[in-house]
Amino acid sequence: MSEKIKKATRHTNQNEGLIFEKSSPGKRAFELPPLDVPAVDPAKALGEAHRHEGVEGFPEVSEIEVIRHFTRLSTWNYAIDLGMYPLGSCTMKYNPRVNEFVARLDGIATEHPYQPQELSQGCLKVLQLLEKCLLEITGMDAITLQPAAGAQGELTGLLLIRAHHEKNGNPRKKVLIPDSAHGTNPATAVIAGYEVENIKSNADGQVDLEHLREQVTEDVAALMLTNPSTLGIFEQQVPQIAEILHAKGALLYMDGANMNALTGVTRPGDLGVDVMHLNLHKTFSTPHGGGGPGAGPVAMKKLLEPYLPTPVLVEKEGGRLALDFNRKQSVGRVKAFVGNFGVLVRALAYILAYGPGVRQATEDAVVNANYIRKGLEGVFDLPYTKPSMHEVVFSDAIQKKNGVNTMDIAKRLIDYGFHPYTTAFPLIVPGALMIEPTESESKEELYLFVEAMKSIAKEAAATPELVKTAPHTTRVRRLDEVGAARKPVLRWRAGVNRSEAAD
Ligand SMILES: *Cc1c(COP(=O)(O)O)cnc(C)c1O
Repeated sequence: MSEKIKKATRHTNQNEGLIFEKSSPGKRAFELPPLDVPAVDPAKALGEAHRHEGVEGFPEVSEIEVIRHFTRLSTWNYAIDLGMYPLGSCTMKYNPRVNEFVARLDGIATEHPYQPQELSQGCLKVLQLLEKCLLEITGMDAITLQPAAGAQGELTGLLLIRAHHEKNGNPRKKVLIPDSAHGTNPATAVIAGYEVENIKSNADGQVDLEHLREQVTEDVAALMLTNPSTLGIFEQQVPQIAEILHAKGALLYMDGANMNALTGVTRPGDLGVDVMHLNLHKTFSTPHGGGGPGAGPVAMKKLLEPYLPTPVLVEKEGGRLALDFNRKQSVGRVKAFVGNFGVLVRALAYILAYGPGVRQATEDAVVNANYIRKGLEGVFDLPYTKPSMHEVVFSDAIQKKNGVNTMDIAKRLIDYGFHPYTTAFPLIVPGALMIEPTESESKEELYLFVEAMKSIAKEAAATPELVKTAPHTTRVRRLDEVGAARKPVLRWRAGVNRSEAAD
């Protein structure tokens, strides 16, 4: 492997033990001055039931041992502050430090959700301004900031659609979903009580309009369109799709998690979309990973506004802001309070820092994905050749001939100091390599990534075993991923070894 390409170095310490193994009796990280007041017997003061002689097996270590242990462990993690995350679909972009600064300001960080509305006017103003920005960006009429994630936004959107159809006398039965949609879409439709009907993409990765015309009946509640799709391709026939649906009274839902390819350039509301969600923890840079917190606001046209989750932010006479809980047709609450306020603040900081420049963030995200596409075209197979938006999807068809698959290439990428890209998704591309650099990355970083991928492609042809057995530089090699998900060992117990703990 060329040293020039290899970015990250080995972990500082490959063999850090458990903190329990570092323990020796009597060590501690602090020392208190001698007691200068009368001693109290804890058993007498608290009652015998509360008396403990210490926790069995509790580690006894000095301060510097604690610090070094956890600092070394932290070097085993890859992070956006270390290098690029080329994960497609998840948009792992850098969260600018100014967002964190704003979220920690007094009055924002210390506001209590039960504080009276009269004393929360500043925070309500933050929410109102974010709502206005997102409505401008999406071209919609009304919005809720409440959902905590993209998937919860989808569910909220479908509940609004169901409420709309119920109002018209029939909730309808089916939701249509293209095969290039994100996996959460069909799951959401089922949870919202709908049957899922699949729509096949045509050879260009677009919705087949003829096929769609046949599928849209009076039974169809909505179509859920991921745009750009999980192929990283912009669906060009949104107005026609909307027209076909509307003619039968069905609605168009857009999965807008990939708005980082459209923000400032085109507005779903102008294209005929009725309702959509955004992923603030993707497009608008707020941090995510490890399960949250996130925010998945849902923006909609006027016809769905009556069903908004409560409370709804309203402006009273004199510009006073208030939360309206009294809305008869509301689908109800989907999350506590007003949603994840801290995430919402970070998104607003990001949008305001860019201003009209959000358009350039979009353009940079698209240029960066295309830089990688151009750099790797011919080296990796490109199954769909329509222009790429914010991400590009290759397949492992060329490397497969030598028995090397997308997972092997992703694992080898770790040796080159990069986080792996998304493997084996979307499902319509067998052996997919889904790559999204985001706008955060410089040309230099993109170049390093392209060179790493080219180098791995060469290895796959010349020394396939090297790639198939990667990673070679990490503390642990290929993990039992199913075992880790199904039988996680989350807690250390004295005297129980790891395999027993798993049972
Ligand atoms: C990430 C993503 C989702 C789901 O969002 P979560 O916040 O993870 O629930 C839905 N659709 C698309 C296209 C996505 O990329």
